Parts: sequence; C-alpha cells; structure tokens
Amino acid sequence: MLQVLAYGLPRLGEKRQYKTLLERYWNGKISESELYTGMEALEKERLDTYKAYVDHYPCGELSLYDPMLDLAVAVGLIPRRFQPYRGLTTYFQMSRGAQALEMTKWFNTNYHYLVPEWEDQPLRSDPTFFQQALATAQKLGHPTALLSLIGPYTFLALSKKDGMPLEASSLETAAEALLPVYKGLLQALQQSGAKGFLLHEPAFVLEDPPVPLIGYLYHQLAEYPIYILTYYESVDFYPRFVELPVKGVGLDFVSSEGNKKAFFQYGFPEDKVLIAGIIDGRNIWCADLLQKAKEAETLAQRVGTLWLAPSAPLSLLPLTKAPETKMPRAVWERLSFAREKLEELRLLAGYLRGEEAAKAAAEASAALWLKGPLAIHPPTQARLQALREEDFQRPLPYAARAPLQQERLKLPLFPTTTIGSFPQTEDLRALRKAYREGKVSKEAYEAQIRAKIAEVIAYQEKLGLDVLVHGEFERSDMVEFFAEKLEGFAITEHGWVLSYGSRVYRTPIIYGDVWRPAPMTVAEITYAQSLTSKPVKGMLTGPVTLLNWSYAPPHKSREKVAYEIALAIQDEVRDLEAAGIRVIQIDEPAFREGAPLKRRDWPDYFRWAVRAFRLAARAQPTTQIHSHMCYSEFESILPYIWEMDFDVISIEASRSKGTLVQEFRRFPQWDRPIGLGVYDIHSPAIPSEESILKVIEAARAVLPDALIWVNPDCGLKTRRWEEVTSALTHMVSAAQKARASVTTPPNA
Ligand code: GLN
Ligand code: ZN
Repeated sequence: MLQVLAYGLPRLGEKRQYKTLLERYWNGKISESELYTGMEALEKERLDTYKAYVDHYPCGELSLYDPMLDLAVAVGLIPRRFQPYRGLTTYFQMSRGAQALEMTKWFNTNYHYLVPEWEDQPLRSDPTFFQQALATAQKLGHPTALLSLIGPYTFLALSKKDGMPLEASSLETAAEALLPVYKGLLQALQQSGAKGFLLHEPAFVLEDPPVPLIGYLYHQLAEYPIYILTYYESVDFYPRFVELPVKGVGLDFVSSEGNKKAFFQYGFPEDKVLIAGIIDGRNIWCADLLQKAKEAETLAQRVGTLWLAPSAPLSLLPLTKAPETKMPRAVWERLSFAREKLEELRLLAGYLRGEEAAKAAAEASAALWLKGPLAIHPPTQARLQALREEDFQRPLPYAARAPLQQERLKLPLFPTTTIGSFPQTEDLRALRKAYREGKVSKEAYEAQIRAKIAEVIAYQEKLGLDVLVHGEFERSDMVEFFAEKLEGFAITEHGWVLSYGSRVYRTPIIYGDVWRPAPMTVAEITYAQSLTSKPVKGMLTGPVTLLNWSYAPPHKSREKVAYEIALAIQDEVRDLEAAGIRVIQIDEPAFREGAPLKRRDWPDYFRWAVRAFRLAARAQPTTQIHSHMCYSEFESILPYIWEMDFDVISIEASRSKGTLVQEFRRFPQWDRPIGLGVYDIHSPAIPSEESILKVIEAARAVLPDALIWVNPDCGLKTRRWEEVTSALTHMVSAAQKARASVTTPPNA
C-alpha cells in the first residue's frame, strides 16, 4: 500500500499571522481568548493545506512557542522558579521571561529550541495542550487523529541538568522518571481520540546513541500506536531501529546514503510502515520526480506499507513560492517551498499510481533538472580551475607577519575594539525602509549613512577605543547585505522562516555561480577611515557563513560554492587593501554550525571550510586579518580555528569562559591574539569594570599578555546607545588598568 505523510508545515502562516498574533498578545493588544481564536484560524489554514495534498498529517504542531517546551509542560518538567504552573502566563515566562529556559540551536539548523531543565522535580502529565489540539482538529473537520510529539529519547538527549547535558547515569534516572508520565500522556491522549503518535526522534541520528536505553524506552511504550520520525541524517543502528516495537519508522533518504545502504542490506520488517523521507525537506529546490519515482518504486517492492514523506519537517522552509513574483523566472520555476513540497509528494504518489496528470508533471520536473546548473559564469569557473595550493596560504607565516602589522598599527597591550555593528535605532530602520521603497533618493540615503558613520567614529575616538569600526548602519543583516550585492544569490520577498518564538528571518538562495560584480563595502569603510588616524576595520562576512546561512544550489558541492564565495570576498579584501585599509575582519559566526551532525564527518567539512576562509583572507602580510565567531561551542574545534591562519580572532565567551580557558590549556600551540568577549550583548546587563577585568585575568592565566584583546561578545546592533556607552566605557578603563598593572613595576 502506498500513501503520503507530511509533517512540520510551517506554523508562521501565509500572512505571518503566527507572529502577529503572538506579538499582539505579548503587547497586551489581544486577550488570551483572541489569541486562541486566531490560532484556531491558523490551524484551519494549515490542516486544510495538508488535506489538499496528502493522506496523513498530524495535529499538535501549532506550538505557541516551541515543541520542546510543549512536551516539557505536558510531562510537568517545570523548574521550581516557574511553579506553580499557571497556564499561558507561565508558559511565556518559561519561554521569554527574565529567567527563561536556555535557548539553543536545534541540531544543525537555524531554529532554536528551549532546553528542558531537570531539577529532579516530581513529574505529572498535563495533556491539556495536545487535547486541545485534537479537539480543534476534530472541530475543524479534520479527524486526523495523528498527534505530533517530541519523542522521549530526543527530549532526554536535549535536556540539561545544572546547565550540562545529562550524562549516561543521570540519563537513565531521568528516563525512569519520564517513562510513567510519558505513558500517562499517551494514554490520556488516546482516550481523547488520538489514533496514532508521530514521535520526533532526530537524536537517533547522532553518533553513538545509547541503543539499549532507546530499546528499553520503546518497549515500555509498545502498547501505543507509535510512528517514529528520524531526520537530518542516517541512523547508525538501523537493524535495531527498525525492530523497535512500533507501527512505523521514518528514515531520511535524502541527507546521506547511510539509510539507503542499510535498507537494502538488512531489509525491512513486513509488519511495519516505512515512512520514506524522499522529498528533500531542508532545501528549497524542486525534485526530479522521475528519479524520485524510481527510488520510491524500489522501496515499495520491499515493504508492505510505504508512506512517502519529506526527509525532514517542512518547518524550516518558507511556506510557499507563490508570492515571489520578483524572482528571476528560471530560478522561480525550480523553487519548491513547503507547500510545493506537499504538491511534489502528491504528484509522486500520483505518478506511482499511474495518474496521467502526475506523469506530465514528473516529466516536466525531470526536464528542469536536465537543463543543468543556472547562471554559469565562465570567468569564475576559470578562476576556480586555476587555483593552486599557494592560493590558500598567506605569503608569510604568522610569526613573520605579526611584527610587520604591529609596526604599521602601533597598538597598545590589550587593544580594545568592537565587533562591528552599533545600535540600529528605529530612525535608521525607517531610513533603510524608505530607501528600499524608493521614497528616499540614493544620494540622500548615502548622505545620512555617512553622517551616522561620522558620528560613530567620533564616538569611538572619544571613548578611547584602539581599533575602530564604521558601525554597519547600511546593513540590516550580515548575510543579506552581501547576498544582495553578489551575483548568483537571490533574495525572497516573503520567504520568512521561524528562528524561535515569533522571530523570523529570510534565507538567501544561492542559485548560480557566485561572483562579485563591484566593490561592496569600500565606499563606507574608506569614508570612515578618512575621518580618523586610528585603524578602521574593513568588515566582511566570511564565505562559510555566507554559505551556511543560505540555501545552497543543487548540482554543486558545498565545497565548491564556498570557494566561489571566497574568491568574491578575496576581491573585496584586495580592494580594501588598495584603498589603504590596514585591518580587515572576516566574520564567521556560522563556521561551527555548518559542521555535520556526526563527528566522523567533521574532518572533511573543516578541511574545506578552513580552506575557504584562507582563500578569502589571502591578504598582504601587512594587513591584519581578524575573524569573529559566536553562537558556538568552541570546545574541540580550536585546532580547526587555528588552521584558519587569521591574525586575530574575537569570540563570544560570556557563557563559556571557564571551559574555553581549559581548551587553550589543551591546545598549547595556540599563538594568535584572541579577544574573549567581555560584554554579553544578548543581555541588557552592563558589565562592570571589575567583571571585565576578571575575563582579562582569566585569559591571562592561559595566554601571554601579548595575545589578549578586549572586546564585546558580538555586534552591538540590538543594544541601546546608553547601554553601549556605559559598557564600552568600562571596557576601555578595564583595559587601561590591565595595561597599567603590566607596565608599572610593582614598587614604582
Ligand atoms: N560584524 C557583525 C556585527 O557586528 C557580526 C555579527 C555576528 O557575528 N553575528 O553585527
Ligand atoms: Zn557575533
């Protein structure tokens, strides 16, 4: 039997109603019951969409903040500081209050989930949210009866206790505590009409999962009708996975070859449903449906019941390409956002059932693929071909570059700098918007940006910072800004995706060869530099981050795309150097996040990621190249970072100072200046001079003084000017004190 299952349809809604509803509720503009009414209308839109295309789809996906939080609440994992739990008020305190749960990245995606906290609190199941979801679905005429929930293992694997992931023994204790409550939850939901449970277990694809524990969990839940979804990678314990006592298992057949190989090697149990993740749920390109049909047929021959499905939840795709009228036609026709993925699944099933219309559509999709890559740029291809090993090397080693740079820059000990952006105030956003809409002329816009630059240069000189920045006032987003200027990139108008809560972003699309038609940053930077004798940093986004925060093109390896982008950035580096810029920062905040989920795949990723950075940063020995990283766990990647061969790096450290210092102990080769963030820019709290001195002292415990810079964790664009002024004042005075403590002999 062949059917189609879809899940993860974006909750944002066609008109971004989700965002509007939540924000209006938070701002007191609508009541709780208006929020629910609005959400019900949104759920209707979602369920109706599903129904138009596929056979099976779940309810329970319309979380009011985050599905991990929904499960935490449903099993009563409520930290003491939020007890007693009082409905929505507490729910939003847990998600966005002053003492909210920690938020972190969901696997290797750009979505952030709330981290459940184990405090050994007594658990108690509270099925309210999911019961309401079932009731709403029934009321709306969707007796779907499949309920979407985070699976027990993934929930445990992503939880923390005392700020640390649960270790083997505490994982088992927590599992014992969770099981009866999780069971109680499923039981209550079954009584409320749930006929099946779609349990998300992406943590199954991580390396070395505790298979016996997973087996134990699912044997305990064997009496319930469960379908397990895994995605983002292959499952290393395939034979034991498919034997779990459940009704169906979902495998991702797109992200890697592992599942396919295992499927053909070990076969598939006859009595189970294979949920075949065959349509790419993570990228935005349409499928070659003829090819997919062949694949599906070979699967169908070997299983009793086959459900075609997306390879991953559709939630990280924009909803539909329909309104993207400004997209180049050739790109547009190849796009497939969430709704188009549903259509592809429907067509695929139709094709396999021999429907004529589906046949024509499948052939058309295959024809698109035959056309090959879009927007080939022969000069770029020629440059790539001509690359030789020395193109990935700076002309002199660091030890020889450093004195040349110091001679040119004459920096004091513990130099102070910032990461690039300064507060982006309402008036600035209004100005950029008016300019985009053609309401402000280019000349007027540029004049206003120049005025802002002049102000921020004077401001930094007055504060006494050593290496200045131009403030990034012309940029709304560090990726979109470059994506707009580079060939080969397209920007959607409405392609919003949830990042967390109600926060949305638009991911640029790389569709062709990437190259730089004209300088992108030189005018603003050289203007800033003309106003001061202190060095102003050229400010660029690095190739790995530009790639990782965009949709990558089909037909091409990510490595190759990274090198194309790197060459474009290298062109910009050259132009900045030629214009007299002495320091250039190439930001790579997404360097770590692009790493594959399985550690064994790391060496290959970091090999090319490091090379892409080096290609972009191949500057004159006298140019000081900085890089910046944040949002990262730097643990275990220091050796890779070191290989990037920059001259200085600044990193976020406010949350991981202790461990970072340990890392340096474990990597004694480290010889580069580093600025550990001394100001947590994610928090409105202003660091005192003392707390800054503490970070400097912590760094001095493991690194020579000459290697220590002083800077905030990240850009300041989300902070207010008053906060920034106080924080930077403390930062400069702390650096001065640190200097004095070194240069003044003890008895002077
Ligand atoms: N230069 C950027 C800024 O200051 C860096 C942002 C980031 O790392 N996320 O805003
Ligand atoms: Zn940053």
